Amino acid sequence: MELLFDSEGKVNYDKIDKDTTVEDILKAIDIFLDKNPLPCDDCGESCCKKAWSVEMDNICVNRISNWNEDSASDFVRQRLVIKRNYYREFDQYVLDKEKNCHFITEENYCTIYEQRPIICRLYICIDKSYRYNVVRELIGSTYLQALIFEDEMRNNVLSADSIEKYRRNPAVFAKGYDIALKDIFSYAEEEGWLYDDERDELY
Ligand code: SF4
Ligand code: SF4
Repeated sequence: MELLFDSEGKVNYDKIDKDTTVEDILKAIDIFLDKNPLPCDDCGESCCKKAWSVEMDNICVNRISNWNEDSASDFVRQRLVIKRNYYREFDQYVLDKEKNCHFITEENYCTIYEQRPIICRLYICIDKSYRYNVVRELIGSTYLQALIFEDEMRNNVLSADSIEKYRRNPAVFAKGYDIALKDIFSYAEEEGWLYDDERDELY
Protein backbone atom coordinates (compact mmCIF):
# COMPACT_ATOMS: atom_id res chain seq x y z
CA MET A 1 0.00 0.00 0.00
CA GLU A 2 1.04 3.58 -0.42
CA LEU A 3 -0.14 7.08 0.39
CA LEU A 4 -1.14 9.38 -2.42
CA PHE A 5 -3.24 12.44 -3.13
CA ASP A 6 -6.86 11.49 -3.81
CA SER A 7 -9.22 13.12 -6.33
CA GLU A 8 -9.91 15.89 -3.81
CA GLY A 9 -6.18 16.56 -3.43
CA LYS A 10 -6.12 15.14 0.08
CA VAL A 11 -3.59 12.67 1.45
CA ASN A 12 -5.17 9.22 1.41
CA TYR A 13 -4.28 5.54 1.29
CA ASP A 14 -4.49 3.92 -2.16
CA LYS A 15 -5.74 0.76 -0.48
CA ILE A 16 -5.46 -0.91 2.84
CA ASP A 17 -6.78 -4.30 3.82
CA LYS A 18 -7.32 -6.23 7.00
CA ASP A 19 -3.74 -7.49 7.03
CA THR A 20 -2.14 -4.09 6.49
CA THR A 21 -0.12 -3.35 9.60
CA VAL A 22 0.51 -0.11 11.43
CA GLU A 23 4.16 -0.53 10.44
CA ASP A 24 3.11 -0.69 6.74
CA ILE A 25 1.32 2.63 7.18
CA LEU A 26 4.28 4.24 8.94
CA LYS A 27 6.61 3.13 6.14
CA ALA A 28 4.17 4.46 3.53
CA ILE A 29 4.10 7.84 5.32
CA ASP A 30 7.92 8.00 5.32
CA ILE A 31 8.00 7.25 1.57
CA PHE A 32 5.23 9.79 0.89
CA LEU A 33 7.08 12.50 2.84
CA ASP A 34 10.32 11.71 1.00
CA LYS A 35 8.49 12.34 -2.28
CA ASN A 36 6.46 15.27 -0.93
CA PRO A 37 8.64 17.00 1.65
CA LEU A 38 6.90 19.38 4.04
CA PRO A 39 8.00 23.02 3.87
CA CYS A 40 9.58 22.99 7.34
CA ASP A 41 12.44 25.34 6.39
CA ASP A 42 9.99 28.05 5.27
CA CYS A 43 7.47 27.40 8.03
CA GLY A 44 9.23 29.82 10.35
CA GLU A 45 8.31 28.04 13.54
CA SER A 46 8.71 24.40 14.44
CA CYS A 47 5.43 22.66 15.23
CA CYS A 48 7.44 20.83 17.95
CA LYS A 49 7.67 24.17 19.80
CA LYS A 50 3.95 24.74 20.16
CA ALA A 51 1.95 24.54 23.36
CA TRP A 52 -0.11 21.59 22.18
CA SER A 53 0.21 18.19 23.86
CA VAL A 54 2.74 15.58 22.82
CA GLU A 55 0.85 12.34 23.41
CA MET A 56 3.03 9.42 24.42
CA ASP A 57 2.48 5.80 23.44
CA ASN A 58 3.84 2.64 24.99
CA ILE A 59 6.23 1.67 22.18
CA CYS A 60 7.88 5.09 22.24
CA VAL A 61 8.31 5.03 26.04
CA ASN A 62 9.61 1.44 26.02
CA ARG A 63 12.09 2.21 23.27
CA ILE A 64 13.35 5.34 25.04
CA SER A 65 13.67 3.20 28.19
CA ASN A 66 15.58 0.42 26.37
CA TRP A 67 12.72 -1.97 27.18
CA ASN A 68 13.58 -1.80 30.87
CA GLU A 69 10.37 -1.87 32.93
CA ASP A 70 11.76 0.15 35.86
CA SER A 71 13.10 2.81 33.51
CA ALA A 72 9.76 2.96 31.71
CA SER A 73 7.95 3.45 35.05
CA ASP A 74 10.44 6.15 36.08
CA PHE A 75 10.00 7.91 32.73
CA VAL A 76 6.22 7.96 33.16
CA ARG A 77 6.47 9.30 36.73
CA GLN A 78 9.13 11.93 35.99
CA ARG A 79 8.27 13.17 32.50
CA LEU A 80 4.58 12.58 31.83
CA VAL A 81 1.20 13.69 33.15
CA ILE A 82 -2.24 12.23 32.62
CA LYS A 83 -4.56 14.16 30.32
CA ARG A 84 -8.13 13.20 29.57
CA ASN A 85 -8.91 12.33 25.97
CA TYR A 86 -12.43 13.77 25.92
CA TYR A 87 -13.10 12.66 22.34
CA ARG A 88 -12.64 8.98 23.17
CA GLU A 89 -13.27 9.27 26.91
CA PHE A 90 -10.08 7.73 28.23
CA ASP A 91 -6.99 8.94 30.09
CA GLN A 92 -3.70 9.18 28.23
CA TYR A 93 -0.17 10.30 29.06
CA VAL A 94 1.31 13.46 27.55
CA LEU A 95 4.67 15.14 28.08
CA ASP A 96 4.67 17.35 31.17
CA LYS A 97 5.56 20.56 29.35
CA GLU A 98 4.25 24.06 28.79
CA LYS A 99 5.53 24.84 25.32
CA ASN A 100 8.50 23.24 23.55
CA CYS A 101 8.62 19.47 23.31
CA HIS A 102 11.37 18.12 25.61
CA PHE A 103 13.07 16.53 22.63
CA ILE A 104 13.43 19.43 20.21
CA THR A 105 16.75 21.26 19.92
CA GLU A 106 17.30 24.94 19.16
CA GLU A 107 18.09 23.86 15.58
CA ASN A 108 14.74 22.03 15.33
CA TYR A 109 16.15 18.49 15.48
CA CYS A 110 14.20 15.80 17.27
CA THR A 111 16.66 14.05 19.59
CA ILE A 112 14.51 10.89 19.69
CA TYR A 113 13.67 10.86 16.00
CA GLU A 114 13.96 7.06 15.56
CA GLN A 115 11.90 6.42 18.69
CA ARG A 116 9.53 9.40 18.45
CA PRO A 117 5.87 8.93 19.43
CA ILE A 118 3.51 7.36 16.96
CA ILE A 119 1.40 10.53 16.86
CA CYS A 120 4.46 12.37 15.52
CA ARG A 121 5.02 9.63 12.93
CA LEU A 122 1.40 9.80 11.75
CA TYR A 123 1.38 13.60 11.57
CA ILE A 124 1.25 15.26 8.14
CA CYS A 125 0.49 18.99 8.14
CA ILE A 126 -1.36 19.09 4.81
CA ASP A 127 -4.97 18.27 3.92
CA LYS A 128 -5.85 14.68 4.74
CA SER A 129 -8.90 12.62 3.87
CA TYR A 130 -11.50 11.78 6.48
CA ARG A 131 -10.47 8.14 6.07
CA TYR A 132 -6.81 8.96 6.74
CA ASN A 133 -7.75 10.84 9.89
CA VAL A 134 -10.07 8.14 11.26
CA VAL A 135 -7.51 5.36 10.80
CA ARG A 136 -4.77 7.57 12.24
CA GLU A 137 -6.86 8.39 15.29
CA LEU A 138 -7.84 4.74 15.95
CA ILE A 139 -4.21 3.61 15.72
CA GLY A 140 -3.10 6.44 17.99
CA SER A 141 -5.80 5.79 20.58
CA THR A 142 -4.95 2.08 20.77
CA TYR A 143 -1.26 2.74 21.48
CA LEU A 144 -1.92 5.69 23.82
CA GLN A 145 -4.29 3.60 25.89
CA ALA A 146 -1.74 0.75 25.93
CA LEU A 147 0.73 2.98 27.79
CA ILE A 148 -1.85 3.68 30.50
CA PHE A 149 -2.66 -0.03 30.80
CA GLU A 150 0.99 -1.14 30.88
CA ASP A 151 1.75 1.42 33.58
CA GLU A 152 -1.20 0.22 35.67
CA MET A 153 -0.10 -3.40 35.24
CA ARG A 154 3.48 -2.62 36.25
CA ASN A 155 2.61 -0.62 39.33
CA ASN A 156 -0.60 -1.98 40.79
CA VAL A 157 -2.11 -5.19 42.03
CA LEU A 158 -5.02 -5.66 39.67
CA SER A 159 -8.00 -7.96 39.61
CA ALA A 160 -8.08 -10.76 37.04
CA ASP A 161 -10.91 -8.91 35.30
CA SER A 162 -8.82 -5.75 34.91
CA ILE A 163 -5.85 -7.72 33.58
CA GLU A 164 -8.06 -9.51 31.08
CA LYS A 165 -9.61 -6.19 29.99
CA TYR A 166 -6.23 -4.52 29.55
CA ARG A 167 -4.81 -7.43 27.60
CA ARG A 168 -7.63 -7.17 25.07
CA ASN A 169 -5.87 -4.05 23.78
CA PRO A 170 -3.62 -5.54 21.05
CA ALA A 171 -0.84 -3.00 21.73
CA VAL A 172 -0.39 -3.84 25.43
CA PHE A 173 3.18 -5.13 25.84
CA ALA A 174 3.57 -5.23 22.04
CA LYS A 175 7.14 -4.98 20.83
CA GLY A 176 6.45 -2.70 17.90
CA TYR A 177 3.94 -1.40 15.41
CA ASP A 178 3.42 -4.69 13.55
CA ILE A 179 -0.26 -4.98 14.54
CA ALA A 180 -2.77 -5.62 11.74
CA LEU A 181 -5.50 -3.07 11.15
CA LYS A 182 -8.14 -5.78 11.59
CA ASP A 183 -7.00 -6.09 15.22
CA ILE A 184 -6.95 -2.31 15.73
CA PHE A 185 -10.47 -2.05 14.26
CA SER A 186 -11.80 -4.98 16.32
CA TYR A 187 -10.51 -3.37 19.48
CA ALA A 188 -11.96 -0.02 18.41
CA GLU A 189 -15.36 -1.67 17.95
CA GLU A 190 -15.11 -3.28 21.37
CA GLU A 191 -14.31 0.11 22.92
CA GLY A 192 -17.20 1.79 21.08
CA TRP A 193 -14.84 3.95 19.02
CA LEU A 194 -15.99 2.45 15.73
CA TYR A 195 -19.32 1.09 14.56
CA ASP A 196 -19.46 -2.21 12.71
CA ASP A 197 -20.76 -0.64 9.49
CA GLU A 198 -17.98 1.99 9.48
CA ARG A 199 -15.19 -0.55 9.25
CA ASP A 200 -15.72 -1.53 5.60
CA GLU A 201 -15.52 2.10 4.53
CA LEU A 202 -12.02 2.32 5.96
CA TYR A 203 -10.52 -0.43 3.78
S1 SF4 B 1 5.75 19.73 9.95
FE1 SF4 B 1 4.47 21.29 8.98
S2 SF4 B 1 3.80 22.67 10.63
FE2 SF4 B 1 5.56 21.46 11.36
S3 SF4 B 1 7.38 22.74 10.96
FE3 SF4 B 1 7.12 21.35 9.20
S4 SF4 B 1 5.88 22.51 7.75
FE4 SF4 B 1 5.68 23.54 9.72
S1 SF4 C 1 9.03 13.90 19.91
FE1 SF4 C 1 10.25 14.79 18.28
S2 SF4 C 1 8.86 14.90 16.53
FE2 SF4 C 1 7.59 14.62 18.35
S3 SF4 C 1 6.99 16.68 19.03
FE3 SF4 C 1 8.88 16.11 20.13
S4 SF4 C 1 10.59 16.92 18.91
FE4 SF4 C 1 8.74 16.88 17.62
